[in-house]
Amino acid sequence: MAAEEETEMGNPLRKEIERLVEAGNLRGLLEKAGELHGHLCNYLSYGVIAGYVAVRELGVKSTGMEKVLALVETNNCFSDGIQMVTGCSFGNNALIYRDFGKTAVTVAKRDGTAIRIVLDPDFEDSRDKEYPEASELWNKIVARRENAAPEEHERMIRLFAKMSINELAKPVDTIFRMKRTKITMPEFAPIFASVRCSICGENVMQTKARVKDGKPVCIDCAEGAHYVLDGSGISGKGARQASML
Ligand SMILES: [Zn+2]
Ligand SMILES: [Zn+2]
Repeated sequence: MAAEEETEMGNPLRKEIERLVEAGNLRGLLEKAGELHGHLCNYLSYGVIAGYVAVRELGVKSTGMEKVLALVETNNCFSDGIQMVTGCSFGNNALIYRDFGKTAVTVAKRDGTAIRIVLDPDFEDSRDKEYPEASELWNKIVARRENAAPEEHERMIRLFAKMSINELAKPVDTIFRMKRTKITMPEFAPIFASVRCSICGENVMQTKARVKDGKPVCIDCAEGAHYVLDGSGISGKGARQASML
């Protein structure tokens, strides 16, 4: 109960977001999310709406201290809307990434009460038909990386911004499939000591350090295999790829 009360108190650092959530001001939330995302697009809107629905349904406010968790299943634009509205971020350990490649999120309270929200596939399939010009430009400029005139770039940005605002007015139950659920909450993020790499002299989280000639070294200096999260999701990188990053 104590944890729940804490989430109800509100967070002075996030008062603008909380005010927008309280007022149901999706447009304002989208603009806030745009500060983080850098462009406006429909998937950002879906993340904003999903985040908004989740925090309203669960009645939670972020303390920035893992009281509320968001388990995202994609690292596309959607996840930035989720981060801004729920306050669960990569850096505060309240964002958990599951590499499923699905536009979906589960937002959970410390007691495990949760809601899972996934983009409805029929809704998703209908987007291309509704915004043919935007889709065509996106396919040309983003998907195929073809050379495009600056005016085409600008046109795409404008069309996507317009689309992102339009999408906010769609009925939520046509955009998503939503269900209440219960999850087993992970432990709070552990705190690890740092050790100094004997080669580059930089500090490294103890659990990430390797040993070379009896001394601690960082993965980079050890040219060790590691995981990388990029536009393709999580993948393992060996020594050769790591040096190219
Ligand atoms: Zn985007
Ligand atoms: Zn090093």
